[in-house]
Amino acid sequence: MLRIRKLTVIVIQLALVASCTFSTGSAKTNGREKITQDDLKEWLTYLASDELEGRNTYTEGLGLAAAYIAEHLRSWGVKPGGPNGSYFQRVSVLGIKSENNSTITVEANGQTRTFKNKEGVAFPANVGGKRSVTSDQIEFVGYGLNAPLVKHNDYAGKNVKGKTVVWLGSTPLKGMDGRQYFRMLGGRSRYATEQEGAIASIGVGFNRRGQGVGQAAGQGEGQGQAPAGGPPGGNFGGGQSDGSDFTTVQRLDSPIPPSVTGQDEFFEFLFSGADVKYAELKDKAAKGEPLPSFTLKNVRLTFNLDANYRVVRTQYTRNVVGVIEGSDPKLKDTYVAFGAHYDHVGYAEGEVTQGANGPIRTGARGRVTEGAIEDRIWNGADDDGSGTVTMMGIAKAFATGAKPRRSLLFVWHAGEEKGLLGSRYFADYPTVSMDKIVAQVNMDMVGRNRDNKSEEANTVYVVGSDRISTEFHNITVDADADLAKPLKLDYEMNDPTDLEQVYYRSDHYSYAAKGVPIVFLTTGLHQDYHANTDSVEKINFEKMARIGQYGYEIGARTANLDHAPARDNHGPRVGKGSEGKLAL
Ligand SMILES: [Zn+2]
Repeated sequence: MLRIRKLTVIVIQLALVASCTFSTGSAKTNGREKITQDDLKEWLTYLASDELEGRNTYTEGLGLAAAYIAEHLRSWGVKPGGPNGSYFQRVSVLGIKSENNSTITVEANGQTRTFKNKEGVAFPANVGGKRSVTSDQIEFVGYGLNAPLVKHNDYAGKNVKGKTVVWLGSTPLKGMDGRQYFRMLGGRSRYATEQEGAIASIGVGFNRRGQGVGQAAGQGEGQGQAPAGGPPGGNFGGGQSDGSDFTTVQRLDSPIPPSVTGQDEFFEFLFSGADVKYAELKDKAAKGEPLPSFTLKNVRLTFNLDANYRVVRTQYTRNVVGVIEGSDPKLKDTYVAFGAHYDHVGYAEGEVTQGANGPIRTGARGRVTEGAIEDRIWNGADDDGSGTVTMMGIAKAFATGAKPRRSLLFVWHAGEEKGLLGSRYFADYPTVSMDKIVAQVNMDMVGRNRDNKSEEANTVYVVGSDRISTEFHNITVDADADLAKPLKLDYEMNDPTDLEQVYYRSDHYSYAAKGVPIVFLTTGLHQDYHANTDSVEKINFEKMARIGQYGYEIGARTANLDHAPARDNHGPRVGKGSEGKLAL
C-alpha cells in the first residue's frame, strides 16, 4: 500500500482531489479449494526473500519477480495478456516539463478580470488536456470539509453537483487536530469533485504548520511522494532533478476537473459582490471559527486550461498480465479483473553509522525496526507479496479447474509504491477495453492481522465495494457466506471520511476512477508496514488462503452472471459496524 511521506510542505491543490439469483457452479466444482497454504508459502518464501532485494521499481529484484510470476502463469496455461503474446506490459513513466498558461476569468459584481497562472492564482502543473470550462453556479462551502468525527459537514443539505465549490481555511477548524486531518485538508478538491460531484474547485494552499502558502502552491507540487492516492492527474512527484514539473504514466490529453488555489486579491474580487466580505471570512478562517456557506450569485467563471507538456525523461517498468478465457462464447469478451502490486520499496544502499542517539541506517527505504538495523532489505512480504501470491493462487485455481463464463484478467501491477504507476498506466492504456471489465478485485496486504491483534485473525477489511455497484457489493457479501469458514467482513476503512483515505491508496482506485466496480481487500496495517521486518515468517497463510478463496468466489460469481453488475453509483454507504447486503 502506498505510504504517504511526511512532507514538510503539504500543498493542497486540485489537480489536485435482488439478491443474486444466479447459479455460480463454483459450489459444485469447489475450484477455490485449489488455493492452498502450501503453494502460497512456497511462492512468497521466494518473492519476499533477500534474493529479490525488496523488489523496488526499476531494479533487478523486480525483474526476477516478474519472470517468476510469468513462468508460473505459463506452467498453468494462463495466456499472456500483454502485447505481442507477452506476459509483460511495458509501463512508460514520463517526467514532464509543463509550460502552463492557464487562466481563470471571473465575472463578479459587474466587472470582469482574468487571472493568469501564478498571478493571484495557481494551477497545478498538470491540468490535463486543453479545454475551457465555464461555470455560473458557484457555492462557497466554508472549509470544504466533511468530518463526522467532529460532527462537521460543510456539504450538509447542499447539492454541488455540476457546480464550482470555493473554500477557505489553510488550517482546520478549532477542535480538529491538524496533524490528524492534514490528509483530509489535502483531499478537499478531490472530495468535492469525486464525492460531491462538483465540476471545479477553488481553495487555498496550506502547509502542515498551517500557514497558507498562496502562490508557492504552484512550485510546491511534486515534492516527495504523492498525497493520498495522488491527485487525479497522476501528479505524484518524481523528483525534479531531471527538470520535470511532474511525473506521470497517464495520458496528458485527458480532462482533469479544474482546480486552483487563490491569493487574497483573487478572493477579494471573487467575493466582491457577496453579502459577506472576503476579509471577514479570511479572519474567521485564520482563527478556526465557523464559516458560513452561501451561493455566490451573479458570478461567472471561465477556466481556460492551457498547458504545453514536454517529455524530459522516460523510465520503463512492467506490469505482468495474464488472461484465462471464459467458457461462454458471448460473454467471454468481457472480463473480471484481479489485481495486486508486486513491487515494494527495495533496500538501503547506505551503511550503518553511529549518530548522536545511536546507530543510523543511511538510505533506509522506510522504517527500521528496533534491533533490526543490520537488515538492509525491505522484503515486503505482506506489502504486497501477500496479494501477489494470493492472486497467483486464484489464477492457478481457475486455470487448472472449471472456467467461468466470462474471461478473467490478472494484472500484477508495478510501481504501486511510487504512486500507483502500473495501475494508472493500465487504466489509460488497457490491454482489453476498460468498458469490457465488469469488476475488479484488488488485494493489497492480505497476510496479517491489523496491528498484529489476534482477535483480528478472521477479519478482512472490505473497501469500496458499495460505491459503484450495489449489486457487486451484494455479490461480495454472498461470496463470503458461501465459504466453509466465512471471514468477518469489516467496512470501517470504507468510510468516506476515513482519515487514512484508504480508498484512494491502492491500485483498485485506478479502475474505480474509470467507473469500474471494485472491491479492495486488505487485512490492514501493522507495525511492520513499510518496515525492514515485513518478512515471510510473520504471514498467516491459513488466513491468506481463505482470503484467496474469497477472492476466487467473488470472481466466479461475477464472471458467471448473465449481465454485468449494474453501476448505480450510490457512493459509500457501508462503514464501521455495517453488515450484510444493501437494498437494490
Ligand atoms: Zn506499501
